[in-house]
Amino acid sequence: MVTTVTGQGTAAPAGTSPPRAAALPPPQLDVRGVTLQYKTKEHLVTATYRVDFQVYKSDRYVLLGPSGCGKSTLLKAVGGYMMPEEGEIHLNGKPVTRPGPDRMMVFQEFDQLLPWKTVKENVMFPMLAARKGSARAVAAKAMHYIEKVNLTKFADHHPHLLSGGMKQRVAIARAMAMEPEVLLMDEPYAALDALTRRKMQDELLQLWDDTHFTVLFVTHSIAEAIKCGSRILLLSPHPGQVKAELASVPRTEQDSAAAKELETRIHDMLFSDVVEDTEVHHG
Ligand code: ADP
Ligand code: MG
Repeated sequence: MVTTVTGQGTAAPAGTSPPRAAALPPPQLDVRGVTLQYKTKEHLVTATYRVDFQVYKSDRYVLLGPSGCGKSTLLKAVGGYMMPEEGEIHLNGKPVTRPGPDRMMVFQEFDQLLPWKTVKENVMFPMLAARKGSARAVAAKAMHYIEKVNLTKFADHHPHLLSGGMKQRVAIARAMAMEPEVLLMDEPYAALDALTRRKMQDELLQLWDDTHFTVLFVTHSIAEAIKCGSRILLLSPHPGQVKAELASVPRTEQDSAAAKELETRIHDMLFSDVVEDTEVHHG
């Protein structure tokens, strides 16, 4: 049994899980008892086992765990690409049965853009497909989000002219321009160099300060989870089960002893039965 903690904005001490106030609104995303399996001709792979978590509006909710613990599979299920074997997923009270524009995904790979379209056209593409407004309104919104990820100068460039970090910015702008209920991010910075990665994390937090979007973020990096997350769900190794849910440290205290302590605590919880490392192995 995992105790839930209060969402963004409450000053819970790092790593503690006080009970939620009684008057809290229902969760935006509700994942209950979710078992996910892959069935092939020869094998049955159980990726996650009876996973529970609730994401509230404006949470920066992080799924953290070792490679193969089912983080990407959970995200796919929330995205509606995969149905649970057991359990249920609800978004705003409605069961998730298929993909939809209310859940936009950003992947780790740099090749998620359409190479024959410009940056601006890439950002416009899902909005046009979902009939989000007139071509003019869609173009204006695209430019608005392109500016937010600092790529205005590159709006008319094609993806092959951009660095990996810039391509990720486009993918983030494209997803955010859809203004989804929940933004799904599957290790979006894992393939970037350390400096770019840090810059992109700061940028994401700045974007969050602007719009307070709800994000479900997958990572195998403890440091990234603490920096980017408001709440962190720790998953056990394969098949993924919930080990604990923790509140991260406030943004202003990222360099504090409390942050270090939380990092050590998460490390110990994740590796209580496995190898020593500063990061969970790549997933
Ligand atoms: P993570 O993202 O945490 O590294 P995944 O969700 O990718 O983990 O995978 C969870 C488990 O499911 C792993 O054991 C993996 O081998 C298995 N798996 C993932 N995708 C497939 C697939 N398409 N077919 C069969 N097994 C899969
Ligand atoms: Mg993965």
